[in-house]
Amino acid sequence: MSTDLTLPAETASLLGRLGVRAAAFAGGNRAVASPITGEVIGQVHDADLPTCDAALASAQAAFLAWRSVPAPRRGELVRLLGEELRTAKTDLGLLVTLEAGKTLSEGLGEVQEMIDICDYAVGLSRQLFGLTIATERPDHRMMETWHPLGVVGVISAFNFPVAVWSWNAALALVCGDAVVWKPSEKTPLTALAVQALFDRAAARFGDAPAGLSTVLIGGRDVGEALVADPHVRLLSATGSTAMGRAVAPILAARFARALLELGGNNAAIVCPSADLDLTLRGAAFAAMGTAGQRCTTLRRLFVHDSVYDTLLPRLKGAYASVQIGDPRHADTLIGPLIDAASLAAMERALKDARDQGGTVVGGDRVAGPGQGIYVRPALVEMPAQTAVVLRETFAPILYVMRYSDLDIAIGLNNDAPQGLSSSIFTNDVREAERFCSATGSDCGIANVNIGPSGAEIGGAFGGEKETGGGREAGSDSWRAYMRRATNTVNYGSTLPLAQGVKFDI
Ligand code: NAD
Repeated sequence: MSTDLTLPAETASLLGRLGVRAAAFAGGNRAVASPITGEVIGQVHDADLPTCDAALASAQAAFLAWRSVPAPRRGELVRLLGEELRTAKTDLGLLVTLEAGKTLSEGLGEVQEMIDICDYAVGLSRQLFGLTIATERPDHRMMETWHPLGVVGVISAFNFPVAVWSWNAALALVCGDAVVWKPSEKTPLTALAVQALFDRAAARFGDAPAGLSTVLIGGRDVGEALVADPHVRLLSATGSTAMGRAVAPILAARFARALLELGGNNAAIVCPSADLDLTLRGAAFAAMGTAGQRCTTLRRLFVHDSVYDTLLPRLKGAYASVQIGDPRHADTLIGPLIDAASLAAMERALKDARDQGGTVVGGDRVAGPGQGIYVRPALVEMPAQTAVVLRETFAPILYVMRYSDLDIAIGLNNDAPQGLSSSIFTNDVREAERFCSATGSDCGIANVNIGPSGAEIGGAFGGEKETGGGREAGSDSWRAYMRRATNTVNYGSTLPLAQGVKFDI
């Protein structure tokens, strides 16, 4: 809930409590505006290129020391980071709300996600194991070992200003890597706060090498410095597909690893047997939550002819009544758009949708505090999956289309150039299994009876096609942060060659 302080004063007080020095967020070249009111809440300093170079060299030196620290001991640092995040959860969650405009519940949820990935990584620090593999040669053993990789660069987007860093950093740190982070230029304050919490954890840990985890504030040029630097062996980049197209060839040219988490255009299919109460709630959260500014936001809804006329009026009712406003208020479900460019993109898409035969409900601006940009989410009935439906507009627009045949609906789901997340709502086990099968959804995430957004950290997160192919967080995602060595050990006294090759000298 809002305090009596003005927004800039509230932010300064939060940053102070989180351990960020005033000099870091005052007097700098880059103004940071809160989307809640449009007020400037900080003036941060961009890193210049010599600063970037020094941070990357320092990270490389830290890596060379950190790789020899036993992994469970590395896990202790991440455990301490998790403790700092638990203590700071309320303040950091509110700061996420002030800087990114998410509701307070979502701001707190984002910090909880950071805590969860820390817990996960601590357990992982004792489980970085490889296989022992059958060998064709007598008195030999073949195994694989996993070793720290190097410096991991992280570039993140505005809409998950802190969680994305933690998905990468918690795993990278237990894997023995150093981390250099370039947060979104729209959300540097939360990044400074996270760095302060990391520094506190490192101080308690005692002997973490200097430069093990660093934040570099700045715009695209700072991101480009990370992409180009030969110390960065893995670059994890989260953002638009356009950004991925720019960074991927540069990484490929120097044979660095790329972990790309790019745009999504996520769909759900509502089948004749769907539980419509559950579908309504699942679709409403996925389409309108975070004001449509999640990579996994539901953007395309395919509804079977037999339930279309029942579901649509209920969905329209939810769109008409959803509470929009200051995201610090407990009853608000939809906060502001991030900036004016986002509003312009939304207006452009709604115009294109009308031109392509769509009927738009909502999408109009509503009053909010100060100069904040608040819109009613738009529900657009489309006669077909036209060009505008196939492009990702990072705003609360849900395109709704009818279908009559599941095969066609699955085809429409897969026709999008992006491949992040997808869902089916059905009580028919055949339809559910079909959707999750090799001939079903082609996305990295395929859900049944929940919406496409709101993933947990235990599963691997990411998507196919223009979403970039990367996987982060759970399952075996940790392998991207390590290098694999296959070791063949001969404990006999002869030297048999593989495949029966003879070379007797
Ligand atoms: P954006 O692409 O504008 O910026 C993302 C980050 O990339 C920023 O830090 C930016 O400074 C940096 N950047 C941009 N161009 C760069 C370049 N050429 N070289 C190096 N760095 C560069 O994205 P945004 O508006 O902040 O976020 C919204 C987009 O991110 C949406 O498309 C959304 O779907 C996507 N996203 C994807 C995921 C995912 O996990 N797949 C998660 C969150 C957001």
